Amino acid sequence: MVSRVIPVDDFDLVIFGATGDLAHRKILPGLYRRFEAGQIPASSRIIGAARTEQDDAAFRDEAFRAICDHSSVDKDNPQLQEFLGLLGYVAIDARGEGGWQALKDRMRPGAVHAFYFSVAPALFGDIAERLAGHGIAHDDSRIVVEKPFGRDRASARALNATLAKHFHEDQIYRIDHYLGKETVQNLMAVRFANVLFEPLWNAQFIDHVQITVAETVGVAGRGSYYDKSGAIRDMVQNHMMQLLCLIAMEPPYHFDPDAVRDEKLKVIRALQPVEPADIVRGQYTGEGSDYLTDAEDPASRTESYVAMKVRISNWRWQGTPFYLRTGKKLRARTSEIAITFKEPPHSIFDDSGVPKANELVIRLQPNEGMNLKVMIKEPGPGGMRLVQVPLDMSFADALGADGADMPDAYERLIMDVIRGNQTLFMRGDEVEAAWAWTDPIIEAWEDGKRRPEPYDSGSSGPDEALRLMHRDNRRWREIRS
Ligand code: NAP
Repeated sequence: MVSRVIPVDDFDLVIFGATGDLAHRKILPGLYRRFEAGQIPASSRIIGAARTEQDDAAFRDEAFRAICDHSSVDKDNPQLQEFLGLLGYVAIDARGEGGWQALKDRMRPGAVHAFYFSVAPALFGDIAERLAGHGIAHDDSRIVVEKPFGRDRASARALNATLAKHFHEDQIYRIDHYLGKETVQNLMAVRFANVLFEPLWNAQFIDHVQITVAETVGVAGRGSYYDKSGAIRDMVQNHMMQLLCLIAMEPPYHFDPDAVRDEKLKVIRALQPVEPADIVRGQYTGEGSDYLTDAEDPASRTESYVAMKVRISNWRWQGTPFYLRTGKKLRARTSEIAITFKEPPHSIFDDSGVPKANELVIRLQPNEGMNLKVMIKEPGPGGMRLVQVPLDMSFADALGADGADMPDAYERLIMDVIRGNQTLFMRGDEVEAAWAWTDPIIEAWEDGKRRPEPYDSGSSGPDEALRLMHRDNRRWREIRS
């Protein structure tokens, strides 16, 4: 099935931090892919901005290298040269006053104006202030703000207040790239475009939910950044919280930005504080692969792994726990949501084996898809014996889609910015509410002296995390790709 490409309006996109890692690896290659797909009008302009002094031609060379290095493109495709022709560059120090007039002169009246803040969060306020102060941004301009959005509720609130001085909420696009993933959006389609699941989607029929985001990489190379963050700030407060919200939220009245975000916010507000006994922190260890070496601080107490049991206080979920776990240097790279239904209340098959609980697994990576485990009769003449089998669907196979043709999260989200669709972006109150829930957990860790539990690199995490489940007579799904 070929995905439909609907071109966006003519736009001027300014990328602050255009010489940085994110711009090189994701933003520029992503924009080229959208151009190649015919989604970006040839009249559009993409303007890089950073302190490095260079001209348009040098930035185009830099973009060419970045695109070739970070995506599988045909270097000789004439479309690539055409795309580079859309690029320009202005040298700007976010904290200085030079360069802003040159940027203003490049902005074309009538085009959609978007400003991507792909710089350190400490510069978000400076850029917002100068865009407004120099009369570059207007009421229809959009700003795209990268993560992390604050490091606690107070800093997120302060950042919201700074941005709000210059931009309305409907101009601010806070990126959580997880929301741009195909499967994450599919969660909403599966739940709200089928009659099959929704009647069962509650504590009466669901025993528990497991959300796993496992990585095989460690923090070597970015240890000093990660050490100030840790798994809860880096993964739980944003990406995993978003997954949890999409699984747990009530049906929005419409697929509309505020209707969806209102429902997600209600879930975050209904989260109970996490008991210390319901959370496990870990740090990977091992010969040649040790967090304390990678993080550079031999006494660091930052967690590279966290597992927790989360309860949602509302009618739908009373009594159904959500178990979240994420970590680095685990045995496989995988992201999935597993919904375990309750066992049938009564078995009519006395001697044939007990029916097992149905399980719906939604795979985010690798091989995006869904797997529903159902009971059937074991084939053969041996009488009625039950066996559990998977109804397995890979989205790529089912849709005949070539994975390479699927827009990646950044591509999709940038196009949504140009379209003015905020559904897949976090609202300010949502981010603050998520921090309000994680702050007490982080404060308790920072106040306490306890070290994270060590776990072997390449394992499934600390033993204490297994016990968190065993205590409830449940078990984690195996981490495998
Ligand atoms: P980076 O590689 O350090 O790049 C930073 C960029 O900011 C460079 O282009 C740098 O260029 C520019 N810059 C620094 N100081 C500046 C100033 N005073 N005025 C104007 N430009 C300035 O960082 P990154 O990894 O691309 O990350 C950018 C943002 O994305 C951060 O907020 C990060 O948390 C977020 N993010 C990154 C990733 C990722 O995979 N990299 C993933 C998720 C989120 P000059 O030195 O030329 O000024």
